[in-house]
Amino acid sequence: MNLSNSLVWFRRDLRAFDHAALHHALSASQQVYCVFVYDTEILAGLPKDDRRLRFIHASLASLDAELRRLGGYLIVRHGSARDEVVALANELDVDVVHACTDVEPAAIARDLDVAERLLQQGRALLTYKDQVIFGKAEVLTLAGQPYSVFTPYKNAWLKRLAAQPETLAAYPVDACAHAFAPPTSPAALPALEDIGFTSGEAPLPAGMEGAEELFEAFMEDIADYGRARDFPFEDSTSRLSTHLRFGTTSIRHLVRTAQQLMLSGAGGDGARVWLSELIWRDFYAMVLAQNPHVVERAFKPAFDAVQWDAGHEADALFAAWCEGRTGYPLVDAAMVQLNTTGFMHNRLRMITASFLTKDLGIDWKRGERYFALQLNDYELASNNGGWQWAASTGCDAQPWFRIFNPVTQSTRFDARGEFIRRYLPQLAKLDMKQIHAPWLVTPEALAERGVVLGKDYPAPVVDHDAARRLTLERFAVVKKAAAVTV
Ligand SMILES: Cc1cc2nc3c(=O)[nH]c(=O)nc-3n(C[C@H](O)[C@H](O)[C@H](O)COP(=O)(O)OP(=O)(O)OC[C@H]3O[C@@H](n4cnc5c(N)ncnc54)[C@H](O)[C@@H]3O)c2cc1C
Repeated sequence: MNLSNSLVWFRRDLRAFDHAALHHALSASQQVYCVFVYDTEILAGLPKDDRRLRFIHASLASLDAELRRLGGYLIVRHGSARDEVVALANELDVDVVHACTDVEPAAIARDLDVAERLLQQGRALLTYKDQVIFGKAEVLTLAGQPYSVFTPYKNAWLKRLAAQPETLAAYPVDACAHAFAPPTSPAALPALEDIGFTSGEAPLPAGMEGAEELFEAFMEDIADYGRARDFPFEDSTSRLSTHLRFGTTSIRHLVRTAQQLMLSGAGGDGARVWLSELIWRDFYAMVLAQNPHVVERAFKPAFDAVQWDAGHEADALFAAWCEGRTGYPLVDAAMVQLNTTGFMHNRLRMITASFLTKDLGIDWKRGERYFALQLNDYELASNNGGWQWAASTGCDAQPWFRIFNPVTQSTRFDARGEFIRRYLPQLAKLDMKQIHAPWLVTPEALAERGVVLGKDYPAPVVDHDAARRLTLERFAVVKKAAAVTV
């Protein structure tokens, strides 16, 4: 066996700069091969026209082009990733497979399996932190325990970064590029049709260039982020979540920039607030890694006692929510945004998740799974954290007795109804008072604006005040459980 050959296994890190595994492999090997596997274990559950596959496909083309520029190339396989990687390591006779660590329980199980099978062949799997700034046990309380509240976690995170600024140092790739195994054939990545999916345009600018394009556009506006980020119509957030999800940008690069803008004062308050959002991402990754039970159950066990509605009526309400037919315009407009673009603004994720759990009484896990299918940026840790926050079952969650009023949220965050009009053109002629709650407008006044309730747009599927009372009753079991525990 040639002891100086290695294989870099790309998963959710589709870039060729500031890349921990690539850097370590290139620094320690004579020849470095690169592989990405379209993993049938993941693809099996996805619809044929899944938007994310188009993003991945375009990002792989960009990654391959960049690797070729550096002197290497990307091998792309389709099959069970665990089998393909072990087989390829054997075929290429490498001694080490390098990859970036993943915190999702299924990925951890897969990696353990691959490590074991490689070991049987006398090879090793080495993994490196890359996806987050601080891993699951790097930011702990003074008592050595993981945090369960965000603000103290954030303060400790910032303190640790101040003490260890080298954490943000980039992992260079160019300097050791001579170790790439040269291409054996001209570029020819499989088409999406070859792996059973439909091709088409990516849902947002893809690959490393796509990330840079969004990043640069966002840098123009970052100073105003703190104010504008809550207003969906303004499109004022970075839209980098899908790039962070697939690793087409580097979290270190983003945090470094936010920090520099804060220090120079050029980023206004926006840079500080944006950095805080990036820390939420680390926080939820830590929560998942420390508490893998959250995948199936409430973070706080007492909340597993909450009885969500099920059965025919709940199924019909769930379908209305998924399809944007609840009769609450901002909720519906948000769901249309999700269904048609694969993105939903953060404020709207909170509002729709709250509506599903607190107004419709439906289990957060159903909503979480729906988001998982639809979101371009879907990633287990943040999605689970966001859902458990909204459902009040999670870590540092919204208290269960504080229930979003979907109409108040609409008048606050889409005061002029501009977002609603963008996604629900049938309501476009309603004025800025009518548009938040069309059922409160007389049928005559609605007809003047071309809307017949129940025909052009649904009547509300629930009454918010009644739903609110039911939710308070539903969560009373938690209060009782807590009282018994105390
Ligand atoms: C119910 C619910 C589900 C969510 N599901 C996901 C998901 O599957 N994937 C995902 O990346 N984010 C998820 N979020 C968090 C957040 O909504 C998105 O990260 C954000 O809307 C992405 O837009 P952006 O890139 O323009 O964000 P920006 O406002 O520009 O923020 C920058 C980055 O910070 C991170 N971030 C921002 N807010 C949060 C947050 N609350 N939690 C964790 N990270 C955050 C993201 O990586 C984001 O790209 C969810 C939030 C909720 C309430």
